[in-house]
Amino acid sequence: MSDSIKIPAELLPTDGRFGAGPSKVRKEQISAINNSIMGTSHRQAAVKSQVGRVRDGLSQFFKLPDGYEVILGNGGSTAFWDAATFNLIDNKAQFLSFGEFGAKFASGTKAAPHLADPEILSSNPGDAPNFQPDDSIDTYCTPHNETSTGVAIEIKRPTDSGLMVVDATSAAGGLNVDVSQFDVYYFAPQKSFGADGGLWLAIVSPKAVERIERLAKDRWTPAFLDLGIALENSRANQTYNTPAVATILMMAEQLDWFNSQGGLDWCVSRTTDSANRIYGWADQSNVATPFVSKPNLRSNVIATIDFDEKIDATEITKALRANGILDVEPYRKLGRNQIRVAMFPAIEPTDVSKLTQCVDYVIERL
Ligand SMILES: *Cc1c(COP(=O)(O)O)cnc(C)c1O
Repeated sequence: MSDSIKIPAELLPTDGRFGAGPSKVRKEQISAINNSIMGTSHRQAAVKSQVGRVRDGLSQFFKLPDGYEVILGNGGSTAFWDAATFNLIDNKAQFLSFGEFGAKFASGTKAAPHLADPEILSSNPGDAPNFQPDDSIDTYCTPHNETSTGVAIEIKRPTDSGLMVVDATSAAGGLNVDVSQFDVYYFAPQKSFGADGGLWLAIVSPKAVERIERLAKDRWTPAFLDLGIALENSRANQTYNTPAVATILMMAEQLDWFNSQGGLDWCVSRTTDSANRIYGWADQSNVATPFVSKPNLRSNVIATIDFDEKIDATEITKALRANGILDVEPYRKLGRNQIRVAMFPAIEPTDVSKLTQCVDYVIERL
């Protein structure tokens, strides 16, 4: 069986965590939790200053212009979809749907009785559609990086009217973005930022703040999903209810590291380096092929690599797992003979090369 293949130690990466989220957590982040503020009140200055550290760290990281704010709340990106259904979409949204995550948000708003049916523009997995701007649309929604397929698109407003709302859950921190091209850029800490789950964070433009304040006042909204309440609490460096303080500490630690290394530009150079390594390897391989056929859509943070049918990718992932290389199984519902590899900024590009060598080693022995 493939899980009895023993990969020589000199071929193994220094860290075997290549999961798309939760993703590799650095030991410095774990040390950051060993902190006397753990177990103390989130309404007191010590914890609030850590929330402030995350908000300021993100402002610096994304070089936010005046008027842009960082807001946060509990429940992860999935909770943010529901919040957006109440307080961001006015009446009718247009969605780009090119994988599991984009499709989920779109179907949630379709079911909302207070909204018009959205327009959902879909493409096959591995490709991406384009917006079709139209005066009836008040909100344009798309993932920046579709984590289920490894497709990343350029974030560009389709028109100046309406809000541009971007699911940046796996992209934020690892892919370049022009802040002037969105109104809302939301994400969770357990992907490119390599912290832990349970929180959502969003960068909001002045236009988005205006929309939130109006809809939160005029439309009945469950308090937990109320972005007006989230805005007020965030400005006071708090969340509406109790957050996981450990997640905040790990996120703050990672942001300080990113910013000290050169911020988003440095992170993008790391993920680009990793991506060149894995796609370059797949292009040369006789049995591996990038699943995303258009090079300009290939994600620099999530690589999906198909294998020739004479090789069973589940045997590869089993052998890798037995050797401590974890979570490169493909997205379960995609159902392809492939591996999926995260290349978030904390992942060493040299480890991505090592991973490809390990895959070659396993394939030779299947
Ligand atoms: C992981 C992911 C989500 C879901 O995030 P949660 O924090 O688990 O709710 C949403 N969108 C994208 C693009 C993701 O990668």
